[in-house]
Amino acid sequence: MNKYLERANELVPELVENRRHFHRHPELRNELFETTKYVRAKLEEMGYEVNEICQCGLVALAGGKKPGKCILIRGDMDALPMPEDTGLPFSSENPGAMHACGHDFHMAMLLGAAKILKEHEDEIEGTVKICFQPNEETFGGAKAMIEAGVLENPHVDVALGIHIGPIADVATLDFGKGLTMGSADGFDIHVKGRGCHGAAPHRGVSPINIGTHIYLALQELLAREVDAVEQCTLTVGSMIFGDGATNVIPSEGHLYGTMRGFNAELTKFMVRRVEEIAKGTAATFGGEAEVNWLFSSPAMYCDPDFTDEVVRYAADVVGAENMIPKKARATGSEDFAYFGQAVPSQIFWLGGGVEDKAKRISNHNPRVQFSEDALPYGAAVYVQCAMEWLREHK
Ligand SMILES: [Zn+2]
Ligand SMILES: [Zn+2]
Repeated sequence: MNKYLERANELVPELVENRRHFHRHPELRNELFETTKYVRAKLEEMGYEVNEICQCGLVALAGGKKPGKCILIRGDMDALPMPEDTGLPFSSENPGAMHACGHDFHMAMLLGAAKILKEHEDEIEGTVKICFQPNEETFGGAKAMIEAGVLENPHVDVALGIHIGPIADVATLDFGKGLTMGSADGFDIHVKGRGCHGAAPHRGVSPINIGTHIYLALQELLAREVDAVEQCTLTVGSMIFGDGATNVIPSEGHLYGTMRGFNAELTKFMVRRVEEIAKGTAATFGGEAEVNWLFSSPAMYCDPDFTDEVVRYAADVVGAENMIPKKARATGSEDFAYFGQAVPSQIFWLGGGVEDKAKRISNHNPRVQFSEDALPYGAAVYVQCAMEWLREHK
């Protein structure tokens, strides 16, 4: 058995305890004050010096005693703004927040990796930068950490992330090459009309009418203006107008939505067209529209050469038969893509399906569960890839 996996197996009680602590106390965005206090205390206990380089973004360095390159390993820490309905004894104690994407696993696995790396610190042929990232779900965290200098001092050569998944079997590792996950851009179209009595609509300008036409026109943008061979989507997820009255034409409202794709030039075009369509449609009906872009994350690019290397290393932990090449791109997004833009990167999807296959449901669902049996594999894959990559590139 891989020696790091053997050690991670011994650490299972600790991995589970940490994971359940995080699961019980989920926090959102980059307001992870209790979470980072806990992570920092654990790292300091292990002997690390911890640096908070941006709000709730923590970095610790392992190695550095021998000269060599630097590999960054990343775990994200934020939960989702949703209630939990798993019935687990360690369910969320923070109403309206849940670790439904499994980032509680990421922290526990990365802490486990940090512990094992510390135990082997003298053998590290370079530096491992251990990166605890906030605010993945709204795509702000990776960018904030990069702007705060996470890729320098020492300079980062490559980066590895791991994401747990609730559908695949435990200890399988799914990986892609090239563009593997879509970009994400979020918008808020603020529609302004003029409110009036519903019995005399000619006295006002209905933002609902404008919003409905914008909604339809956005569907035509996909159907008529985007090359059919492109993979992209545009979804309006909420239209919020009025307050439930039958006889009031409200003054304003919002359409909230997101675009996903793999072609940065096309995204630029779509951004421009969403704005033109919103403004033009509003003007046609005598109102106004303003588009606010809420978030943006590029498509995830996995460097083929780096991928071949880490796939080889990780196979030693989970077995070559459990390394599963991605069959198709995912339209879901990951802000680890910012790392992928900057340095050769890979993000593995670690299988964490519960034993009963009938109970496996998507992440971001209030009833999603993950198998804790995946924890030692995640910790060991981080360590194995970091140690081996540095050794082969010294
Ligand atoms: Zn998520
Ligand atoms: Zn996630």
